[in-house]
Amino acid sequence: MTALLNKGGIPIWRDKSVTPDPTEKDDVEVVIVGGGPVGLSLALDLGLRGRRVLVLNKRSFIAAGSKAICFSKRTLDIWNRLGVGQAMVDKGVVWNLGKVFWGAREDPVYSFDMLPVKHQEMPGFINLQQYACEDMLIEAVEALPNVILRWGHEVVSVTQEANEALLDVRTSDGTYQVATPWVVACDGSSSPVRTMMGLDFEGRIFEDDFLIADIRLKQERPSERWFWFDPPFNPGQSALLHKQPDDVWRLDFQLGWNIDREACVRPENVEPYVRGMLGDDVEFEPEWYSVYTFQCRRMARFVHDRVIFAGDSAHLVSPFGARGCNGGIADVDNLGWKLDLVVQGRADRDLLETYNDEAIVTADENILNSSRSTDFLTPKSDNSRAFRDAVLELAQDFAWARPFVNSGRLSTAVAYPSSRLSTHVEYEELSSGLAPGRVALDAPLKDGWLLRELGRGDFVLLAADDSVPEVEGLRRLVLSEVGDPEGLVSQRYGLAPGGAYLVRPDQYIAGRWSRPDRGQIERAWSRAMGGR
Ligand SMILES: Cc1cc2nc3c(=O)[nH]c(=O)nc-3n(C[C@H](O)[C@H](O)[C@H](O)COP(=O)(O)OP(=O)(O)OC[C@H]3O[C@@H](n4cnc5c(N)ncnc54)[C@H](O)[C@@H]3O)c2cc1C
Repeated sequence: MTALLNKGGIPIWRDKSVTPDPTEKDDVEVVIVGGGPVGLSLALDLGLRGRRVLVLNKRSFIAAGSKAICFSKRTLDIWNRLGVGQAMVDKGVVWNLGKVFWGAREDPVYSFDMLPVKHQEMPGFINLQQYACEDMLIEAVEALPNVILRWGHEVVSVTQEANEALLDVRTSDGTYQVATPWVVACDGSSSPVRTMMGLDFEGRIFEDDFLIADIRLKQERPSERWFWFDPPFNPGQSALLHKQPDDVWRLDFQLGWNIDREACVRPENVEPYVRGMLGDDVEFEPEWYSVYTFQCRRMARFVHDRVIFAGDSAHLVSPFGARGCNGGIADVDNLGWKLDLVVQGRADRDLLETYNDEAIVTADENILNSSRSTDFLTPKSDNSRAFRDAVLELAQDFAWARPFVNSGRLSTAVAYPSSRLSTHVEYEELSSGLAPGRVALDAPLKDGWLLRELGRGDFVLLAADDSVPEVEGLRRLVLSEVGDPEGLVSQRYGLAPGGAYLVRPDQYIAGRWSRPDRGQIERAWSRAMGGR
């Protein structure tokens, strides 16, 4: 526990010196408030689309400490589209398998595979410290000449005018003002921008404390997520074990409510938990100990005229299911292309309303799953506990009971079945494949991967062959030309000759047909750009 702390007691992973104040007025199209994983990913997305972006970050360092470690396949697909996915996978610990244990039994009562559909470029999950992933995002953002990243610049006021928003920014040298057409608040769970605008969250706060012990130990153990209900080393509570890169392990212990938080993180009090889980003779060094509690809440709306909220500033969940940061990266995915089209004048600003609607669908699904997991994990009544224990007992022998075991339903891509951007052709609904509103599935091509081809920045028409009509300005990806060596694209998409899919820039399906004409494709494309 030798981490350097800042004045507020936050451990520092990497110091970034305070950026000097600008010498002339900023001429930017989007200001992002906050340089956490969500703000940085959005800066990268918008920057790669050519937008002039300014990121203002209050901190002048990358924080260490225990935050996100589990990043989902969908997040990796998005980061892959942004050019940093493979680096994350290379650095991270790849895992697909999770095991759930109960009591003192040595065999798991339940196991799950986070990559049930094989032959995809990205794995089911990786574990990687949030600071390491921020490091990689920063490097990628810093390589873009059209994105400015300022450290130690705190936004202290936001006002909206008819055509722009005005931000007051405080630095160690004083205060300056930035005018911008669009602001995206990625300023974290206690979002000062949200407070400045008089807005708040709605939802539940859970009364439970959890101890996180990030420790260093050299031990050969499988790269799997292990979860315990009621283990002998933490009776009546739960525990979780995850491997991280560089011989760091995350141990997570449920503590209950009304605890002495300061006493709980003293090394002499943490050690018995660690030894209980890993064995009396285990040799380890503390990396960081902390206690957390959580909320499952969101803002009523994410779009407030020229100020848009994304990530923790907009919604919060429990860590079970790894839906916090992964949910924020889903916001980035949904917002990036829409804001880009609006800034360019290619789409009406009403398109941003669909960010509001779709990101709320994602947030609600994450909150629902996260709340259910929490209720299962920490039953609040005798009845709930009896139900949970019955499920665990039955799960060992009966497959039908296993889906009820809920140790955190892990983050996967959320579908938008009722999105107004989708075109549903009722009489043609295909019996297999992916319905509009679902995210595209990866599969191998002759040279490379389908999702890479679908993620090149704009809309794409995935056509089974060249009998599908071309539409001016719309990129067509012809499967018979790029090759489907194992037939998995045709199988996963139910694509037969003459068939086609219209895919959005965020790799979501906007429409599909067994034999479309040009007019159908054009109308679906216009609709997917926000046209009614
Ligand atoms: C113990 C724990 C474990 C977790 N595990 C996982 C996990 O495994 N997987 C997962 O997906 N999620 C996990 N999460 C959640 C994850 O850490 C958050 O969802 C994530 O940090 C949100 O990123 P963000 O960019 O929205 O906000 P933050 O990371 O909080 O970044 C906000 C940024 O805004 C800046 N800022 C604040 N105010 C201002 C201002 N006025 N002006 C300028 N800048 C400002 C801050 O300096 C900060 O850099 C976990 C969280 C905890 C606590």
